Amino acid sequence: MAPETRVPERLDRAVIFLGPPGAGKGTQAKELARVYRVPHLSTGDMLREHVSLGTPLGMEAKPIMARGDLVPDSLVLKMVRDRIEQPDCSHGFVFDGFPRTVAQAQYLSVLLRQNGYRPALVVHFALDPALVLRRITGRRMCKVGGEIYNIYDRPPKVEGRCNNDGGELEQRPDDREEIVGPRLQAYEKQTEPLVSYYRRLGRLHDVDASKSVEEVKQRVLEIVRGAR
Ligand code: ADP
Ligand code: AMP
Repeated sequence: MAPETRVPERLDRAVIFLGPPGAGKGTQAKELARVYRVPHLSTGDMLREHVSLGTPLGMEAKPIMARGDLVPDSLVLKMVRDRIEQPDCSHGFVFDGFPRTVAQAQYLSVLLRQNGYRPALVVHFALDPALVLRRITGRRMCKVGGEIYNIYDRPPKVEGRCNNDGGELEQRPDDREEIVGPRLQAYEKQTEPLVSYYRRLGRLHDVDASKSVEEVKQRVLEIVRGAR
């Protein structure tokens, strides 16, 4: 039996995937969410959905995302609060790309407490910035189901098509090489301080994100199963 099919317990908590763009957070969040049957909450995906629907939030976020900056906390926090108060989140959820600033982390801890959750478990995806470029410029996402591929390391079976649903694969506009630098700078300046923030709180667990998808997955499962 595959190890993941022996996971009978419930997640019942918030898990945060923290790390630089391209570290594999989305790939692993989808895996963990499948194993525990909980929602995968990617603030990047939520914002891209607002952009494609042309909502007021999407119109505000679009140019900010296109240049690789972070969207203001106030916009992201309202979006997250509305989402985690949905009934499908009641047995836990996996955050990917949130929180990204200390203010977001502080707000989240209040929100979790108010909604009766234990403190979040944080998984830190450590990846050498030299590997980030290949991961990001090679990334392609399915337009239909959002499945994530990499033309260098995780290509689909049929070029340009999703293995799951045959959907067309596309490159995110912010995955172009010239936007990678600003995104990494935003990470280093605004998000990386969260590594020491959560480490001090004793909530952080490190993962070597340069390993294979399967190895990273097993390490994440080990952390989640072993955590208080
Ligand atoms: P993030 O959500 O952290 O930005 P993704 O999960 O979208 O990262 O992964 C970034 C790119 O790297 C994608 O193209 C994905 O297919 C690829 N990838 C993810 N994990 C690995 C891995 N362990 N080894 C090689 N490539 C990976
Ligand atoms: P991602 O899909 O996580 O790489 O996010 C894509 C872009 O969405 C980022 O570069 C930011 O512009 C924006 N974004 C996603 N999540 C957040 C967040 N928690 N706070 C601020 N901006 C965010």
